[in-house]
Amino acid sequence: MPFGQMSVRQLQEGLAAKEFSCHEVARSVLDAIERADEGVHAFLEVTADAALAAADALDERVAQGTFVQVGALAGVPVGYKDNMNLAGTHTTCSSNMLESYISPYTATCVAKTLSAGAMPVGKLNMDEFAFGSSTETSAFGPTFNPWDVTRVPGGSSGGSAAAVAAGMLPVTLGSDTGGSIRQPASFCGVVGVKPTYGVVSRYGIVAFGSSLDQVGPFARTVEDAALAMNAIAGHDPLDCTSQPCTVDFTANLDEGVSGMRIGVIPAFLEAEGLSAEVKAKMEEVAQKLEAAGAELHEIELPNAKAAISAYYVLGPCEAFSNLARFDSVRYGYSDPGHQDLGSQYEASRAKGFGPEARRRIMLGSYLLSAGVYDQYYYPAQQVRTLITEDYTKAFQEVDCLLAPTAPRTAFKFGEIAEPTEMYLSDMFTISINIAGNGGMSMPVGLGADTGLPVGAQLISPAFADQNMLRVAAELERIYGAAPVAPDFRAGE
Ligand code: GLN
Repeated sequence: MPFGQMSVRQLQEGLAAKEFSCHEVARSVLDAIERADEGVHAFLEVTADAALAAADALDERVAQGTFVQVGALAGVPVGYKDNMNLAGTHTTCSSNMLESYISPYTATCVAKTLSAGAMPVGKLNMDEFAFGSSTETSAFGPTFNPWDVTRVPGGSSGGSAAAVAAGMLPVTLGSDTGGSIRQPASFCGVVGVKPTYGVVSRYGIVAFGSSLDQVGPFARTVEDAALAMNAIAGHDPLDCTSQPCTVDFTANLDEGVSGMRIGVIPAFLEAEGLSAEVKAKMEEVAQKLEAAGAELHEIELPNAKAAISAYYVLGPCEAFSNLARFDSVRYGYSDPGHQDLGSQYEASRAKGFGPEARRRIMLGSYLLSAGVYDQYYYPAQQVRTLITEDYTKAFQEVDCLLAPTAPRTAFKFGEIAEPTEMYLSDMFTISINIAGNGGMSMPVGLGADTGLPVGAQLISPAFADQNMLRVAAELERIYGAAPVAPDFRAGE
């Protein structure tokens, strides 16, 4: 089996038993990426030297007999969404604005994977500045869904999901502001975890919505995702919103769901736009969890329907202020030949940002202007409180919620042209970022109509992310681990 298709445990057992070396793993994964990525375009940059250097240092540890102490990701090739700084690599956020930016430092989440023994293989494609749900807004061309290359992989972390679905890597990192880990995980049929806000440091991630952004892993198994969580979670003095975390995310994966209270949300299943095949899958998943011993409860989240409206006020407002730094002087593309600063700003920002980024910036600037602020921003914050209270109330009754991740399976390139229609891709994920809870997408087989992967979303109370991982592990026992996409299964 190709190394990129192995699980973390399979890799680590083979390495510890000296069946192969970290150098061989890195070399072979790099070669496989060169072959497979032509058809997927998950990678914006392959960091072969960094991966091989890490591999050689790890092989030393194998030789010294100290490999097992390295950490949760010892010997694992890992890729990073291109909004994560890794010193010496490009961090473009898939934008012309940052095309030539080289990271002078490393993000905490990336550094934590490295100190846990990961081999950094490259930087992964995304929607520009993480604005989008399809990876079509990348300035460097889209990523193709490994299950059907005429379809989008989802977004914004489309490259991170596709690299795992195509069997190029066992683990990647992405970020999720309104659904950008969970929705692409659903479209590509892999596990994608958005931890509770504050579990993972945001330091060194190019900020989109600072009160909503959270980093998390993609993997093909729940255990691999949990191991990656063990590596990246925890307090970071460089991010004052990060929290101490001593949880072992693998600890209760074998416990089963017997006695667990799982909430289903009838209103979500009646939502306009939910496809029949996703709805049928959700009903099947609920039944199977009940058969496995879970207690099902019907839950109401009366304010969740306002989540998209609130998000498309709060998100652009935060994006507008975060993106102000890309002014062509401190950061970003600088259009040459201007005599005054005003015209330099104007031309650089007009050329550096793509249409969706410009739309968000203009929206944010309008929404925060005097007179308008009270009409939109302030009420959106009030809605945020109401949604958070809905979840707090729900979690007095249940340990975990079950919902669709996305209303439908992966769509075709160009199929959704209207921005507001694209925004509906995240109708089931956004309220979780607004409330700050944990959420994840689990692959639960293929849709009856499209034959494409469907994701079930599991939602945890804040700082009880282990609850959703426990349910996810049960779903994995029922549906099997995420398969590599059929066209990429060579060597199995
Ligand atoms: N699709 C949503 C948006 O366009 C969410 C993106 C994200 O989570 N980064 O804003």
